Amino acid sequence: MQTPASLEQLIEALRCLPGVGPKSATRMAYHLLQRDRKGANALAISLDTALQVVSHCQFCNTFSEQPTCPTCASGNRDNTLLCVVEMPTDMMMMEQTHAYQGMYFVLMGRLSPLDGVGPKEIHLEKLLKRAQDGLIKEVILATNYTVEGEATAHYISELISKHGVKITRIARGMPMGGEIKHVDSGTLAQAMMERRNIV
Ligand SMILES: [Zn+2]
Repeated sequence: MQTPASLEQLIEALRCLPGVGPKSATRMAYHLLQRDRKGANALAISLDTALQVVSHCQFCNTFSEQPTCPTCASGNRDNTLLCVVEMPTDMMMMEQTHAYQGMYFVLMGRLSPLDGVGPKEIHLEKLLKRAQDGLIKEVILATNYTVEGEATAHYISELISKHGVKITRIARGMPMGGEIKHVDSGTLAQAMMERRNIV
């Protein structure tokens, strides 16, 4: 049996998703066409709509339907602080803490030379421009504590330090409610190194 050309095309298109090879793409395509045509239709429509209306905020670079996202448009934020995160989800997590009232910059990734992600792909030119707007006094690096996140933080700090802006990195340490006996030794070592005065 020969696969219809349009089905072949769908399978090929599904392979643009991360981690999806030919087999899973075929499984997905069969599922959509055989078992869930309604879901497939919703997927097609929402994908089309999102592609048309979702772009990036001109200030913080997160996904936004407006040129300026609601966070940047809000007049109640501290515009002397700029928190740099990797992904929009990190920004959302930070917002949920209600512990931060400053502005954001979302890199939409992290430096990863092996995957072809360099300074241009994570919009560092835009970040540099943002950090030099004359209002920002402190850039808080909140990239992940992974090898790539650390390398990204280091690269950004080198880049921005030449411009007279204070640069800080979010701390590592004990989790809330964490007991020392349950914490891995790397975290415990960091918590010791990054100890702070309490009086
Ligand atoms: Zn924004």
